[in-house]
Amino acid sequence: MVQTSRPQETLLEQDDKYVWHSMKPYNPKATLVAAKAEGSWVTDADGKRYLDAMAGLWCVNVGYGRTELAEAAYEQLKEMAYFPLSQSHVPAIKLAEKLNEMLGDEYVIFFSNSGSEANETAFKIVRQYHQQKGEHNRYKIVSRYRAYHGNSMGALAATGQAQRKYKYEPLSPGFIHVSPPDSYRDDTNVADPRELSSVKEIDRTMTWELSETIAAMIMEPIITGGGVLIPPDGYLKAAKEVCEKHGALLIVDEVICGFGRTGKPFGFMNYGVKPDIITMAKGITSAYLPLSATAVRKDIYEAFKGTEEYDYFRHVNTFGGNPAACALALKNLEIMETEKLFDRSRDLGEQLLNDLRNLLQDHPLVGDVRGKGLLIGIELVKDKLTKEPLGNDLVNQVIANCKQEGIIIGKNGATVAGFNNVLTLAPPLTIKQVDLTFLVKTLIESLQKIL
Ligand code: PMP
Repeated sequence: MVQTSRPQETLLEQDDKYVWHSMKPYNPKATLVAAKAEGSWVTDADGKRYLDAMAGLWCVNVGYGRTELAEAAYEQLKEMAYFPLSQSHVPAIKLAEKLNEMLGDEYVIFFSNSGSEANETAFKIVRQYHQQKGEHNRYKIVSRYRAYHGNSMGALAATGQAQRKYKYEPLSPGFIHVSPPDSYRDDTNVADPRELSSVKEIDRTMTWELSETIAAMIMEPIITGGGVLIPPDGYLKAAKEVCEKHGALLIVDEVICGFGRTGKPFGFMNYGVKPDIITMAKGITSAYLPLSATAVRKDIYEAFKGTEEYDYFRHVNTFGGNPAACALALKNLEIMETEKLFDRSRDLGEQLLNDLRNLLQDHPLVGDVRGKGLLIGIELVKDKLTKEPLGNDLVNQVIANCKQEGIIIGKNGATVAGFNNVLTLAPPLTIKQVDLTFLVKTLIESLQKIL
């Protein structure tokens, strides 16, 4: 354990000197040095406590301070700290078996360390899969604007947020974007999901790009980092049908939506689709250790069992599927089951959504409150009629107000380039009722203060 008796102010000065943060100066007022965490609460270096209504980065699903997770990793580290998955080891086999049980179908699992890597792995698999099948022109990957799929060159190419990308271009070639389903800003809720403009656009794009060049489409069940966009009913099913029509595989990115965040084991389970490939990270270990996975339909995997020297998947990952991370993940999934956290997320999420909708319906700057499970987005606008996004200053002010009162919330959106006007909530699935009440009260007060 790293002990410090230094006050936060001194630590922040040193932090400024030595540590390069991913998003600084994203929101300077929200900077804190965390020193301890328990349940849904984080304590800073000065001893001030915060309710972490973002569960870190939407990932500490079982809450902080679960000693049984620390023990599972400790025991495994003593037993065998490492062995590469070019061979195999017991925790990886057991975890892959468990994930299959949860997915309810036959998938073969490739382990990595982060969500970005899980997606990169999926992109390489789909491209080689089509090669294996003799379809040498299928390399293009379709994704949606506003979605986030990771920070590496392929995952960032799939990401649909230009402002995150333009400083690093050119990224990996072969990625194409279509519009996301945004039920708040587009009039997309129509009776027949195949008539949705966002679904028609996938079909049109795949046609114009030439079906025989499309390898796959990647989508989150609910776009999270691009504003918590709940798709209209039937969207995912209709999108999958379009993919099938064009011979493209469907990769579902469950990095945030997986492991109970949306009230089901996996987000796609809300929408009656069977993905070809599923990528997952974050909640798989509740972020206690790095681990991610790419689950691939069995028959896709079978195509890699050719007879040529290079028919296998040439993709090595030194740390992927670390034994301690796998052992910890198994314990984490056991906790989720024992404590019925998927149902808990569904029920508490429904209640939270209703409460927020009721309490915020007359707020002039709240355009939309949406969510599924313990995943909520509150879209702030200057004007409810024009839906012009609220400026970053006022959005940051709400976050700072919450922080002042001891609550960490998030924001994103990418609604218009540069505008992150959607407040986000994704607390641990174990959050106590009393903490939810505190969250709602504080958030409402923080929103009143910007009027
Ligand atoms: N996909 C989604 C949907 C994500 O939200 C993220 C990260 N927030 C990633 C992929 C990338 O995961 P990582 O940061 O672990 O690389």
